[in-house]
Amino acid sequence: MDADLGELKRRIPLLEYLQRRHWTARAVGTQQEFVGLCPLHQETRPSFYVNARKNVFYCHGCGRGGDLIRFIELERQLSFRQSVAQLQHEWCSAPAAELLSQTAAFYQRQLSRHPEAVEYLRQRALCNSELFAELRIGYAPGGNLRSHLTSLGYPFALLLQTGLINHQGRDAFYRRVIFPCFKQGQIINLYGRSIGPAFPHRFLPRPRGGLFAWDLVARYPTLILVEGMFDLAVLWQCGFRNSTCAFSKQLNPVQFAQLCERLDRLVYIAFDQDQNQAGQRAACALARRLQTVGVAARIVQLPAGHDPNSYFSCGATSADFAALLEQARPL
Ligand SMILES: [Zn+2]
Repeated sequence: MDADLGELKRRIPLLEYLQRRHWTARAVGTQQEFVGLCPLHQETRPSFYVNARKNVFYCHGCGRGGDLIRFIELERQLSFRQSVAQLQHEWCSAPAAELLSQTAAFYQRQLSRHPEAVEYLRQRALCNSELFAELRIGYAPGGNLRSHLTSLGYPFALLLQTGLINHQGRDAFYRRVIFPCFKQGQIINLYGRSIGPAFPHRFLPRPRGGLFAWDLVARYPTLILVEGMFDLAVLWQCGFRNSTCAFSKQLNPVQFAQLCERLDRLVYIAFDQDQNQAGQRAACALARRLQTVGVAARIVQLPAGHDPNSYFSCGATSADFAALLEQARPL
């Protein structure tokens, strides 16, 4: 509890908390001290001091002082425990969801303004603007996210905490194509694919949820399971709307349980046809696990060296892929 509390207070500096609630103050001295009207009682002359370095307040008017939790106890007349819970709820869940939604919308607007990103998508066989809008595909050019979000009132601490911005204030997804991950219509994470030499795959340090777009694909009795978002996007573009993506060769327990929700399901596994056989081995292992619990699985054999995205990028058609599905056999 103590460690969690320390972390919570570090992530939500008292001064930012107050400023987000429209507390206005002026700096006094050089020691990161600020003074303004006390939010805890009526007054006309400022007597409420915040020391931003020590992360504490003291009011010379009402004689009360302490840390952020103490402030919330007094402000809302809550117990210590209730104050901590409220703070966690308000700052660590709802604002994060709203923040991710704002960020995704911002990145979406950047896409059409950056020909290098559109060209990257085109090279990967993605060119349908309706699909871009549907998947809310965006682009992070870097350099402008922080100022945009802080202008909307988001505190820097929250941007840092969600991992959108690094400690230098830079955009963590710099030069990446962005795919939001949804859960029941809400954005819970962002996936970024580098278009340059940087490490290709990046997520925010938060849960990725289950299989991609599960709310939409769960109703299909036949599913196509792929490793990556570019595989999924190209399949959706070509009409295979029953495709979903695990973001990995290894399914997490939630994803595996989703596939097993109905036992009359048939799962086509279309993992990468890697040179080192890693994709095929993972596909076989998954097919076996699914069959053990009574879910039928078939492994799609892509040409050597291909994943579904590269297959289409090299000119394959929907009919070609449909033929691969037709040829796919159980283990
Ligand atoms: Zn006071």
